Amino acid sequence: MSIEKSEIVRLLADEENQQKLFAWADSVRKENVGDEVQLRGLIEFSSICRNNCLYCGLRAGNTKAHRYRMSEEEIIETARRASELGFRTIVMQSGEDPYFNAGRMCRIIREIKKFDVAITLSIGERAFDEYKAFREAGADRYLMRIETTDRDLYHRLDPGMSWENRYNCLMAIRELGYELGSGIMVGLPGQTLESIADDLLFLKEIGVDMAGIGPFIPNPDTPLADEKGGSLDLSLRTMALMRILLPDINIPATTAMETLHPDGRMLALKAGANVVMPNVTEGEYRRLYELYPGKICVNDSPAHCRSCIGLRIKMIGRSIGTGYGGHKKS
Ligand code: SAH
Ligand code: SF4
Repeated sequence: MSIEKSEIVRLLADEENQQKLFAWADSVRKENVGDEVQLRGLIEFSSICRNNCLYCGLRAGNTKAHRYRMSEEEIIETARRASELGFRTIVMQSGEDPYFNAGRMCRIIREIKKFDVAITLSIGERAFDEYKAFREAGADRYLMRIETTDRDLYHRLDPGMSWENRYNCLMAIRELGYELGSGIMVGLPGQTLESIADDLLFLKEIGVDMAGIGPFIPNPDTPLADEKGGSLDLSLRTMALMRILLPDINIPATTAMETLHPDGRMLALKAGANVVMPNVTEGEYRRLYELYPGKICVNDSPAHCRSCIGLRIKMIGRSIGTGYGGHKKS
């Protein structure tokens, strides 16, 4: 449905009545995408990044970050195990690491597709021909947050990057027939409620198939170490409004929400979300891929996370999706 920008801003600000907003989003979720929660297995396959986003622990300028790159075999094996745990979507995420060029990525995508899974890529900005090659190799979806639609804020936070280029990448991704995922961070320094309302209207206008909304969490090893960061409540209100604006899309209960609150993802599932992306990366890599501090489940195994999240989803009266869980337009 459509809501005026001024009304969105009012609802974003209305902490007192947020439970009503969450209940509204929850009923829209139930009516449009049902009670199934779609699980995605997240592989964080390289912590190397050429960019310098001020908020992110993987930024090139962070000399304290521990860098790793999984081998092709490790990535494929991790995906195979995730498929055996029942995941029907694999999300491959990394910093912008040029080592994983089109040839390497396409080889990996082709191998992982043999496990009967949908593949989501979340590897940042690439050339049109690369996006095309990944798609032809079998990638189904692409996830790249616009982060904010405030161009000035974006250019302050992402030195050397261009908002227009990121936007053009999203358009290319859509043109190539991927399911398009995007989203924003909530609580960026200098971000206003008006700006968040613009973000929501932007995501509606470009017609995303998936929207990931999470709080910004200051990382002590970045230039934004002393910033305040986003709150769980405002992130949940933003997410709930996304559900109301785009009733049938996929909306994850983000990991960053659970970092701020031990039950953050379940609260999100009760306020409009219908997707959870448990980490299926193994061993040390889980800890070393550190976008922000306090990352959850760093010492757990993929099998543990899978059963833990499964139980918690059942405890709130929901079921686990058994299909690929793509965007079903209503
Ligand atoms: N390099 C790719 C994917 C990895 S980053 C890309 O940038 O698209 C994935 C997401 O992590 C980013 O889009 C950003 O929204 C989020 N992120 C980065 N640093 C964060 C922080 N400090 N707090 C919360 N989320 C953060
Ligand atoms: Fe790199 Fe993505 Fe982090 Fe930016 S947000 S520094 S592109 S990993």
